[in-house]
Amino acid sequence: MAKYIFVTGGVTSSLGKGIIAASLAKLLQARGLSVTIQKLDPYINVDPGTLNPYEHGECYVTEDGAETDLDLGHYERFLNSYTSQANNVTTGKIYQTVINKERAGDFLGKTVQVIPHITDEIKHRMLLLGKGGKFDIVITEIGGTVGDIESLPFVEAVRQLQWELPEDRVMVIHLTLVPYLKAAKELKTKPTQHSVKLLSENGVHPDVLVCRTEEPLGNDIRRKIALFCNVKQEAVIEAMDASTIYEVPMLMLREKLDLICLKKLNITEYSEPKLDKWKAYLDKLKYPKSKVTIGLIGKYIELQDAYKSILESFIHAGAMNEVKVQVINVHSEFITKDNVQEKLEGLDGLLVAPGFGNRGIDGKIIAVQYAREQGLPFFGICLGMQMAVIEYGRNILGLKDAHSTEMDANTANPVINMMEEQKKIKMMGGTMRLGAYPCEITQGSLAHKIYEATTISERHRHRYEFNNDYLEQYTAKGMVMSGVNPDTGLVEIIELPNHPFFIGVQYHPELKSTVEAPAPLFVNFIGAAKDYNDKKDSLKSSAALQDSLI
Ligand code: GLN
Repeated sequence: MAKYIFVTGGVTSSLGKGIIAASLAKLLQARGLSVTIQKLDPYINVDPGTLNPYEHGECYVTEDGAETDLDLGHYERFLNSYTSQANNVTTGKIYQTVINKERAGDFLGKTVQVIPHITDEIKHRMLLLGKGGKFDIVITEIGGTVGDIESLPFVEAVRQLQWELPEDRVMVIHLTLVPYLKAAKELKTKPTQHSVKLLSENGVHPDVLVCRTEEPLGNDIRRKIALFCNVKQEAVIEAMDASTIYEVPMLMLREKLDLICLKKLNITEYSEPKLDKWKAYLDKLKYPKSKVTIGLIGKYIELQDAYKSILESFIHAGAMNEVKVQVINVHSEFITKDNVQEKLEGLDGLLVAPGFGNRGIDGKIIAVQYAREQGLPFFGICLGMQMAVIEYGRNILGLKDAHSTEMDANTANPVINMMEEQKKIKMMGGTMRLGAYPCEITQGSLAHKIYEATTISERHRHRYEFNNDYLEQYTAKGMVMSGVNPDTGLVEIIELPNHPFFIGVQYHPELKSTVEAPAPLFVNFIGAAKDYNDKKDSLKSSAALQDSLI
């Protein structure tokens, strides 16, 4: 029977509940247990698919096509296993289910209320993943901060489960902040005390407190927190700021978070943690041999969370290549023909990011042209690939008005067009082409070299596609469509063979990059950037040598 760990957050948001949950899951997995993580979000959107990235960061897409919270990305990157539709539940989804049941007459005669109907549905979702016998432990991260009105039903559901389930089947970890007051040179425990009090007022008692702190906690502080929050001293865990999120499992191992949980859940069969691969990765990450600089061209660059999976994929790929990947954010809206050289010179590679709508489109097209003409390694993802198609159409095929119908519905040359099955769809939520689809790769292409396979599967999130009416024109002028969906003929990969590294993909390879299985496209792109950088260096040194000879 599965056991359940709930992770709540107090004091403030952004303490990193997702990373703590993922780190604990990693440690338990490393000890031989099968673990999954789910996220319960208190907002009313049915899923984050319709949210602007400025609101909630990146929308992460699972294999089965769910548009989910970006924390699921962390879970997959840490655990190297897939999550699904069931791993992300929102208040919107809960209410939708309950209201649908009400309409179907399931509660006939009854008044439908938050308690018990909403809380029952929440409990059902909390327990669901643990029911198939697949997992020993289900970790549930409750979004938001304790005390928020909207998270109350979730906290109440945890309270009920704490009461209903045997003591060794359920536990609560509360993540809190212990701020350091510089002027007083002191760590302060009061916010933690208040936050635990708030939780207790709702009937939930935490078994473990994970304390985010900038300074080591020390025994006195640990004792004080334990005493006033009514937890065992060993259950007061120090979570110091880490240099990388990938260090956090090691910090939690040192603090014995995993052992404390195993003890509370009365799990006696487990091994020593097998973390060799993780440690090897961390070593490479911490001690890179050189550096490459990548330009990330996007329109949400002010908000790092908007490109979370891409940035993490760079970190994985950097470690594989033993280089530090420095990412320079370049706002596509401000790139013009006049400043492109100044903005992009010095880069070793260019990634044009996914996106929606018109804003920043021209800058992206100008950036693609620069990379193509300069022989700078180029990698376009989704909208980035579509921009590469438009750029090639305009500048090489001579189709001056080549465009996507997303930006210009009446263009005479719709080289990127809405997919046929999308045309009849009017609803926005969950209606794009989502999730994993197969792709067949041409033998001998760059994509083939990268994937070392002729059939792959990658995840998608888009409405528009390459318009196959233009296929002959493009291929006649040297663009290679090296990846195609075998069922629909939809172009998935484009490349330019007469360029050192120029590839665009309609799918999102960043969604499948994990610590243990970095995305091949990112690994090869960073490899190409490294070669580019090495060449630049050798050109510089031979120029310097020539200068010195003169
Ligand atoms: N807006 C484009 C489309 O819907 C690209 C989407 C994306 O980059 N994820 O096809």
